[in-house]
Amino acid sequence: MFDALYLEKPESGFSATRRQLSDEELAAATPDADVTVRIEYSTINYKDALAITNRSPVVRRWPMVPGIDGAGVVESSSHPGFAAGDRVILNGWGVGETHWGCLAQRARLEGDWLVAMPAGIDARRAMAIGTAGYTAMLCVMALERRGVMPAQGEILVTGAAGGVGSVAIALLARLGFRVVASTGRAAEADYLRALGAAEVIDRATLSEPGKPLQKERWAGVVDAVGSHTLANACAQTKYRGTVAACGLAGGMDFPATVAPFILRGVTLVGVDSVMCPIDERREAWRRLATELDPAQLERITTIVGLDEALKLAPQMLAGKVRGRVAVDVNR
Ligand code: NDP
Repeated sequence: MFDALYLEKPESGFSATRRQLSDEELAAATPDADVTVRIEYSTINYKDALAITNRSPVVRRWPMVPGIDGAGVVESSSHPGFAAGDRVILNGWGVGETHWGCLAQRARLEGDWLVAMPAGIDARRAMAIGTAGYTAMLCVMALERRGVMPAQGEILVTGAAGGVGSVAIALLARLGFRVVASTGRAAEADYLRALGAAEVIDRATLSEPGKPLQKERWAGVVDAVGSHTLANACAQTKYRGTVAACGLAGGMDFPATVAPFILRGVTLVGVDSVMCPIDERREAWRRLATELDPAQLERITTIVGLDEALKLAPQMLAGKVRGRVAVDVNR
């Protein structure tokens, strides 16, 4: 038996509880899995919070063990790439949505989904980074691929005090960029500066409808918010600058015009972590292991147990959680 969070949706209504599951139940729910992992740490991402609160249709199979991220040790494997004792990371691939996830002490996963834990990090650090941090790195890589460099100007990071935003600030500042953090939480200004933000702006300056073209300011943008914030960020991006869009914390709509793209040659890059090809994942994790200052990651991270993870989910959706939350599944 092992402990897990468990989401059910019978006729009587949705419930999210902590309970004990058997290896037989796990095997029956994951017939295609070829690697069994003893999970040490998982996380609560925005998407996990949506699943645990049943706030939007993240879960597409019931019952479900949530947890889109996990890190731990392989217990057994029939996959040629992994053997018992290997340390691995899992992010996405529909885990915690259509496949039983990692907010549990044990998970059965497909070997093709797993990334070998890079040298220099352990399960706790990997899950402090989690999908949010790995997505932040994918955004940084997207900006770099378009040739965005520190000499070209400032980078705007929206949703700054959240998971993606916090890690993006730490990474970009370490790479030498001047980072401007947009937040709705003025009280977190010192935290954002400590992560490396050179300037902190009120997110209200970006969240209202704006003109199609505005004063050029950003060489690049990492946007976790969407909606008017993304539209305004594009409208303020400098000639040939790049905007990496990864989130919808402020809304899924994109009320923009084509003006920044056709008149300023701005590039809007979509960033998806869930189905991202394995080589790009490995590259992102290799860089996260070496380029994210461990002291900064500690500043960003809160560690909770499985029970607290249940309680934290609605707070995360209310925008009240700062940085990253890693879950010690043995607590
Ligand atoms: P968090 O909840 O940790 O952070 C989101 C942040 O967005 C909040 O901290 C807040 O920042 C800001 N925010 C919240 N509500 C609003 C609002 N109504 N208007 C404007 N800003 C708001 O989430 P994550 O950082 O983990 O994820 C951020 C987004 O990225 C989510 O939408 C998530 O679904 C998405 N995501 C996408 C991935 C992908 O593969 N594309 C992967 C991971 C995440 P502040 O308080 O500083 O204003």
